[in-house]
Amino acid sequence: PAALTRGARAEATVDLAALRDNLAALRARTGGPAVMAVVKADAYGHGAVRCAREAVAAGIDWLGTATPEEALALRAAGIGPDQARVLCWLWTPDGPWRQALRAAVDISVSGLWALDELLAAVRETGVPGRVHLKADTGLGRNGCQPHDWPDLVAAALRAQAEGLIEVVGIWSHFAAADEPGHPSIQAQLDSFAEALAFAERSGARPEVRHLANSPATLLLPQSHYDLVRPGLAMYGLSPVPDVGGPADFGLRPVMSLTARLALVKTVPGGHGVSYGHHYTTPGPTTLGLVPVGYADGVPRHASNTGPVQIGGTWYRVAGRVAMDQFVVDLGGDLPEVGEEVLLFGPGERGEPTAEDWGRACGTLSYEIITRIGGRVPRRYV
Ligand code: PLP
Repeated sequence: PAALTRGARAEATVDLAALRDNLAALRARTGGPAVMAVVKADAYGHGAVRCAREAVAAGIDWLGTATPEEALALRAAGIGPDQARVLCWLWTPDGPWRQALRAAVDISVSGLWALDELLAAVRETGVPGRVHLKADTGLGRNGCQPHDWPDLVAAALRAQAEGLIEVVGIWSHFAAADEPGHPSIQAQLDSFAEALAFAERSGARPEVRHLANSPATLLLPQSHYDLVRPGLAMYGLSPVPDVGGPADFGLRPVMSLTARLALVKTVPGGHGVSYGHHYTTPGPTTLGLVPVGYADGVPRHASNTGPVQIGGTWYRVAGRVAMDQFVVDLGGDLPEVGEEVLLFGPGERGEPTAEDWGRACGTLSYEIITRIGGRVPRRYV
């Protein structure tokens, strides 16, 4: 990880070369199918516009977002339809569908209520919609249930015949692709094949059929169809840490989080540390203050567990993580104030990783990176 900028309290370093290499590794792994760069949630905390631009420059021509607002922000930043298709998949009633149509954003539709609302927006704007019909093949979240699928397909094809929309995609999302052998995987593959066959028998000719998230991109070639949608893997983290780490899949973590040691002091044994005194020094020791907290996305669940590296040595969070700061027990070591505290990085120098933080906090690396807050400047290298 690159050195912290002088004077910075904390910084998230985003290694754009790693991002490009990860995208190249994912493309090499999938071969024929296109790769969609999933840049929702501010590109998992890495900066949506910057990462989307990087992906487009690397030859990626599909971008994925959850909300239409995220998709519109990419268009507003100058990523035009000639550069990349943008699909948004989180339908909410009364969303900015007119703007999305005018900005040539592809829109996922999971049911007739959404299709009807979209068609009203199409009639009002005179701009035909680019629609991806979403089947619920078993996730039980968004998507159309099999018993409603024939009606949705029929209505979409009628609207297509009238020139109101184009059914660009047919797609779905896995529930447990990160648990190899989970019975839902084969069931969803079968259900997707059925939904697709029905739509095609009905006359649909989607340009892209897509199903695979990161774990499926890495482990389930039979799910790749025309397009894969890796999020976490593009940011260099393994979605299946029990199967393999990033390097096993040719990936490299993109984000590192570094802070500057703000204070070092000696304290006697038996000294309570941080709110609620959930840590008490076991004997005379040194404490270091790390000036980032839960307002920066360092989970409060990291209290007494989160790992950091200072000058090559690992230490743990001592006591509670507070809003803006936490303490580490330095065990008598005396690093200098101002030294770099590495919370997580690629792990190449033995530093903790986002995966380690996820484990320490009882969550996933996904949550660690996406929660790094807006108060932490991103530095692109
Ligand atoms: N596709 C959809 C519909 C998603 O919601 C997500 C993220 O959750 C992804 C793809 C990417 O998932 P992952 O980060 O596991 O690759």
